Amino acid sequence: MHLYLAHTEPDGTLAKSALEALAASIQLAESLGTPFSVGLIGDDPGAAANDIATCGAVKVLTVSGADFAQARYATDAAAAEALCRAAAATIVTVPATSRWNRVLAGVAHRLGGRADTHVTGLAATNGQPQVSRWFYRQRMEGVFTRSTRPWLLALEGGIAHVAAVSNRPAQSPAPVEEVVLTPPAARTRVTGFEAPAADQQTIRPDAELLFVTGAGWTKKQADGQVKVAEAATLILDFLRHTRSSLGSTKSLVDLGGEGQSVLPFLSHLNQVGQTGSTPRHARGLATCCHGEEPHTVGWRFIGERRAISLDANCGWARGKADILYVADAFDVIARINALLAG
Ligand SMILES: Cc1cc2nc3c(=O)[nH]c(=O)nc-3n(C[C@H](O)[C@H](O)[C@H](O)COP(=O)(O)OP(=O)(O)OC[C@H]3O[C@@H](n4cnc5c(N)ncnc54)[C@H](O)[C@@H]3O)c2cc1C
Repeated sequence: MHLYLAHTEPDGTLAKSALEALAASIQLAESLGTPFSVGLIGDDPGAAANDIATCGAVKVLTVSGADFAQARYATDAAAAEALCRAAAATIVTVPATSRWNRVLAGVAHRLGGRADTHVTGLAATNGQPQVSRWFYRQRMEGVFTRSTRPWLLALEGGIAHVAAVSNRPAQSPAPVEEVVLTPPAARTRVTGFEAPAADQQTIRPDAELLFVTGAGWTKKQADGQVKVAEAATLILDFLRHTRSSLGSTKSLVDLGGEGQSVLPFLSHLNQVGQTGSTPRHARGLATCCHGEEPHTVGWRFIGERRAISLDANCGWARGKADILYVADAFDVIARINALLAG
C-alpha cells in the first residue's frame, strides 16, 4: 500500500508543498496501478481530510489532538509510525518540509525500512517506483529504485502541480479513520515561534528575481572610499521595491570572518554557488560580482542572467551572463530605485 503523509497547518488546511506532494503521490500510484491511502496529522485534520476526500485515496487515516499539532520529534515520529503501521504501507511519500525531513530517517528505522530525501522526480518502471534526486551539489542526477520496504520518500516542493489534485475528476469520498495513539512522553515543549519580520527575510524562493550581491559593494570605489553604508541602503531599498530574493557571493559573506566591513543582513544562507545554494528563479541580476565559475555554477537553473560589473573582462562577460552591463552598480541601482520609487 502506498501511503501519503502530511501535517495540517495551524488553520487546519494543507500547505501548498503538501498538495504538490499529494499530486506527485497520486501520479505515482496511478503509474504503478496501486491503491493509495492518505495519512494526516494535526490538531483537527477533519477539514483537510474533507478537502481531499475525493482525490482517489482508498481511505484517509488521521492522528489528531493538540499533542500532535506542534512540530516535535517524539510526537511527529510516533504519529507517522502509527499511520504507516495502520496502513501497512510499503511506499510512503511526504512533502520535504523541515518537519518531515527531521523525522523521516527515524521513522524508517523504527519500521525497518529505508528513507530517501530531496526526491525531485517519481516514475514507475516495471511496476517499481523509481526516484530521481541530485548528487554532488546538484551536478549529477541519479535515478534509482530500492527493494527494501517500507521505502519512505521526502518529495521536494514543485515537482508536481497543485492543479493535478484540484482538477482531478472527483472520486467517491474516502472513508476517514482515526488512528488512536497515546502521545509519547515528550521532553520538548513548544512555547511559541520567533521569526524574523517579513522585511528581514531576504531569501524568497518564490520571488520573480534573484538579486545577487558581490564583494565589490564593500571595495574601495573610484573616489578611493569604501561605501558600505550606502551599499546597504541601496540593496535594501532595491529589495523593498522589487521583493526580490537576495543572494550573495562567497567572498562577500566570508568578509565578516575577516573582520572587514560587511552587510549585516547577509549570512551564509544567502550564498549562491558550488558551496552555496542553487536557486531556481526565472531571472537573476548580479551586482559587483566577478562571475567566477564556483559562483556561477549556482546559477545553473536561473532562466535569464544579467550582471552589472565594472570589469568588462569579468567571468560574466565570458559566457556566464546573457547580458552584462559594464557600469557602476552604485549608480545603476540608485537610478533603478529612483524609478521604482517614482
Ligand atoms: C572550492 C571553492 C568553492 C567556492 N564556492 C563558492 C560559492 O559557492 N559561491 C561563490 O560565490 N564563490 C565561491 N567560491 C569563490 C569564488 O571563486 C570567487 O572567489 C567569488 O565568487 C568571488 O566573489 P565576488 O565576485 O563577490 O568578488 P570579487 O572577485 O572580489 O569581485 C568583485 C567584483 O566587483 C566589481 N565591482 C567593484 N565595484 C563595483 C561597482 N561599483 N560596480 C560594479 N562592479 C563593481 C569588480 O570589478 C569585481 O569584478 C569558491 C571558491 C573555491 C575555491
